[in-house]
Amino acid sequence: TRIKGNYKYEIGDLASTLNYMAQEIVRSNQIKDDFISSISHELRTPLTSIKGWSETLISGGYDPEETKLGMGIISKESDRLIGLVEEILDFAKLQQNEMKLSMGTVNVKELLQETILNVWAKAEKRRIHLRLESEESIFVKGDANRLKQVFLNLVDNAVKFSHEDSIIGLSAKRFSETEAIMTVRDAGIGISEEHLSRVRDRFFQVDALNGGTGLGLAISQQLVELHNGRLEMNSELGKGTEVIVILPLVDVPPVITPTED
Ligand code: ADP
Repeated sequence: TRIKGNYKYEIGDLASTLNYMAQEIVRSNQIKDDFISSISHELRTPLTSIKGWSETLISGGYDPEETKLGMGIISKESDRLIGLVEEILDFAKLQQNEMKLSMGTVNVKELLQETILNVWAKAEKRRIHLRLESEESIFVKGDANRLKQVFLNLVDNAVKFSHEDSIIGLSAKRFSETEAIMTVRDAGIGISEEHLSRVRDRFFQVDALNGGTGLGLAISQQLVELHNGRLEMNSELGKGTEVIVILPLVDVPPVITPTED
């Protein structure tokens, strides 16, 4: 009877494990389906615009101003496509463990200043102000281009989910003897507790209508972890979001104190 009882237990256990696995498969298939439909939409929008404008311009008869406007849109939409494709390729590289970092010494204050300059025009259109707080020069170990990609993504999200006339704060300081802490804080729409645990999952988006691929935070987190760092998030719905990145400082040579003899 004991054996029978055990079997019964094991079969019940197995059944619930299989049931759980089946649910997980359904869930991950659903996530992939959602991703494919959102990525198709993301790719189709710029392509439709490029196709439309190029045909219009080929048909001719436009004055130089209109032609310049059309060419400008074609160029901007092509950049958007390149960005999307690069994001998907980076994600694939990380998944396959093939992301190579070119490590060096990175000046964090400069990195954040450059990030602000890159996003500034977009933020300014909605009167969103970007403010940097960093008194000291801090140097971390890292791949400057990849770290720039992380902060561009974080600040881009902060702008995207901020209200007009608001402030986004970036800060950098020493966190401990060996680590630096950087934060990107917005006063935007915020994220509910339920969604906060999932926004760093690949493909996840609170609202697919906002555009994007749902890959940005997953890529950023993995890039930070490849640097032996960590990425954390705090958020409150309706109040705003704070993303924290902790990275190892470059090796500081030990201070030699004279011995007493
Ligand atoms: P994407 O921006 O392409 O959707 P991300 O991985 O960067 O992908 O972000 C995933 C989701 O997390 C976003 O779609 C959004 O719902 C939420 N999110 C990210 N950053 C913020 C933020 N600063 N404020 C509010 N929601 C955010």
